[in-house]
Amino acid sequence: MALITKAVKGTQDILPSEVYKNQFIEQIVIDIAGKFGFRELRIPVFEHTELFQRGVGETTDVVQKEMYTFDDKGGRSITLRPEGTAGVARAFLEHGLFNEALPQKLCYVINCYRYEKPQAGRWREFQQFGVEMLGTASPAADAEVISLANEIFAFLGIENLQLELNSIGCPECRKNYHNALREYFESKKENLCPTCLERLGKNPMRILDCKSPICKEICEGAPAIIDYICDDCSRHFESVKKYLDAMNISYVVNPRIVRGLDYYTRTVFEFVSNQIGAQGTVCGGGRYDGLVEELGGPHTPSLGFAMGTGRLLMLLEAQGIELPKPDACEIYIAPMGENATVEAMRLVSELRSNGISAQTDVAGRSLKAQMKYADKIGARYTMVLGDNEIEQGKANLKNMDNGEITEAELENLGEDFMEFIIRKQTEALQQSLGDDAGSFDWSSIINNN
Ligand code: ATP
Ligand code: MG
Repeated sequence: MALITKAVKGTQDILPSEVYKNQFIEQIVIDIAGKFGFRELRIPVFEHTELFQRGVGETTDVVQKEMYTFDDKGGRSITLRPEGTAGVARAFLEHGLFNEALPQKLCYVINCYRYEKPQAGRWREFQQFGVEMLGTASPAADAEVISLANEIFAFLGIENLQLELNSIGCPECRKNYHNALREYFESKKENLCPTCLERLGKNPMRILDCKSPICKEICEGAPAIIDYICDDCSRHFESVKKYLDAMNISYVVNPRIVRGLDYYTRTVFEFVSNQIGAQGTVCGGGRYDGLVEELGGPHTPSLGFAMGTGRLLMLLEAQGIELPKPDACEIYIAPMGENATVEAMRLVSELRSNGISAQTDVAGRSLKAQMKYADKIGARYTMVLGDNEIEQGKANLKNMDNGEITEAELENLGEDFMEFIIRKQTEALQQSLGDDAGSFDWSSIINNN
């Protein structure tokens, strides 16, 4: 019984009083990405399990431990997407986007599903904003993608976020590195977790991404990939840093970042905060030059990042950054009696056609109860309508913040009210700008149209 009134562990409801923050974030990330030429792509919530096994990698934590996988009624193995890159790469191939202008710049806001241990900043259903740039090997693309994430944080006024950068080389550089890693971990073999023991043979780099505390400690002393990268990869990394410097984006090189997906190559990066607890990575990304080919497509060097919007909201909260709250109700019209109710219904409908959020009584309440309701929903203006008002065609508009009363004609209320609030906003703006703004007569513009 209790189960049906409790959301599944690791999932969250976003209540109406909070959802404006998500709506704002979802809107601005797509807008800012749009300025960089990224176009939104919408991909399915579930895919063939094999896509993630190949695209994310068999030896990753995500595939080995975290996927929501089930057989559908047609006997297909289906997995709820744990991330977006594999689905985007699949869509890129399926729709032949590689034949269009390259690089393809794609972005998305999606919910992802991972069976992880729920804690602050870690959920089983969570939202990511992601971008992918497919079809460019240039280090300028790396800097561009990083600068997009940086731009979003700057736009929101976030500070103290550290950009950590690393290069994990290409399959060529990995040969020597894997040998060095194997040698190191062989000597610590008795303390590694069972999953990592298995990884030792198949993909020793994955051990570096293990969350078990003992494995983490062992990793501290492991050789760093950056010391093993080839000349080409090294030159690429130097160029990325040079472009970031030119864009005035500061970073630190952290040789410990390897990222959780198998097909990452060369540049990897994370934006990390120390203000939101242990799950401090707000954004992570990098190059995946081998992924599209791995999925059976043409050689397509690519890169991207994903930003956890839940962690981003935690960070905004921690830094006391308020997001703009839309007005829930611009005007509440309180009718008294049947005639007034008819007129109130006409008025709110006219107001809404003029783009104004307007509400009236739909619960048959007394005037007193209606005013209480208007106050609760935060109505900015109220208007009481009785038989007198209707007869005279006029009613009082009350500003709920300061009690100011203005008489309004009912005849053309939709348009008049819009003009009225624009005038009020302009006055407030003039006042906040000080006397200098007085030299320009705003009222002449507003009154004449
Ligand atoms: P972590 O090290 O925190 O597990 P990850 O390397 O698994 O992160 P990615 O797959 O790179 O994460 O996902 C990109 C971003 O998505 C992360 O930086 C984080 O902000 C967010 N994210 C990942 N997993 C979760 C989760 N379970 N709950 C909330 N946000 C998450
Ligand atoms: Mg993870």
